[in-house]
Amino acid sequence: MTSAQRQTRVAQWLRPALLAQTAYPVAPAQGLIKLDAMENPYRWPPGMIDEWLQCLREVPVNRYPDPGGVAVKAALREAWQVPADLSMVLGNGSDELIQLLAIAFSGLERTMLAPEPSFVMYRMVAEALGMRFAAVPLDDDFALDLDAMLASIERKNPALIFIAYPNNPTGNLFDEASIRQIVRAAPGVVVLDEAYHPFARKSFLPEIAEYPNLIVLRTLSKMGFAGLRLGVLIAGAEWGVEFEKLRLPYNINSLSQATAAFALRHLPVFDEQAAEIRAARERLRDELSALPGLRVYASAANFLLVRTPAELGNLHGGLREQGVLVKDLHGAHRATEHCLRISVGTADENAALLHAMRTLLAVG
Ligand code: PMP
Repeated sequence: MTSAQRQTRVAQWLRPALLAQTAYPVAPAQGLIKLDAMENPYRWPPGMIDEWLQCLREVPVNRYPDPGGVAVKAALREAWQVPADLSMVLGNGSDELIQLLAIAFSGLERTMLAPEPSFVMYRMVAEALGMRFAAVPLDDDFALDLDAMLASIERKNPALIFIAYPNNPTGNLFDEASIRQIVRAAPGVVVLDEAYHPFARKSFLPEIAEYPNLIVLRTLSKMGFAGLRLGVLIAGAEWGVEFEKLRLPYNINSLSQATAAFALRHLPVFDEQAAEIRAARERLRDELSALPGLRVYASAANFLLVRTPAELGNLHGGLREQGVLVKDLHGAHRATEHCLRISVGTADENAALLHAMRTLLAVG
């Protein structure tokens, strides 16, 4: 079969919505200081790595993993104080749970709604599944436009609303009272995506009991385990039992389960790392703000949104040439023109970023 014939089949049979998409872009980072993906920049203390390797020795990789993730869930329940009557559904990253939710709620005429700019995965997943997607622009300060949200909810009758708290890529926490009004007005479900909880330390988890339609998403990625791929959906048991039908039985591999259960026994190490990242975020914000022409937005997450002078063109490429990889948001959304999203790194990495930035801005 020739490539042209194959292409004909691809075009004929795959869903047009899928054909119209492009895959989630991940920039190559080899040899670069990696400040593009909101990872925790710190490794584990050497003694802990030895203990962990001992623990991995015991994992029976000839067997399928525990389908229920019992040990991991128990550790998470304790770490996050999740009430016993709420369900926890594990995902291979919270990305997978966003997809699971979209599958669960999708169907002809079903709408997903989210403010924008926000995490691009919401829109991507909706579009890939043929769901309608309603985007409600944030206001000029990246706050929720409550009136516009409520009007859109009324008009579009969304099955699913995603709100990232704090928001990616803007870094801010939306107003709590506005979120509550949205939850009350929503005909379907509101998902509070708390991926950056270790840095914001604000949560709607205690309010799940108050609303029939509130679901919280968390992830271990940002607190230090991006490589494990472990996300958690927390919801009333009535929701959980349905979502479990969609979760693939062995979606969390044995090594991730064992590692997460181990790491959660050492929570203070990661709490301390998160505290260091929060402090470094504020220092980095001050230092970047002092550079001419940069506008650095306040952040409750482990990254900063930075608007650069339009006349200097794209600084992303210049930073990369100097060995620093950040996320270029120019072209992603009208509201983030000439913006970079910069993850908070180690002290050395942040210093390298500042040095590169000073060079590009021709100061110092
Ligand atoms: N939600 C938000 C708001 C995010 O920014 C991200 C990661 N960029 C995720 C979810 C996905 O995280 P993960 O799949 O690593 O759990």
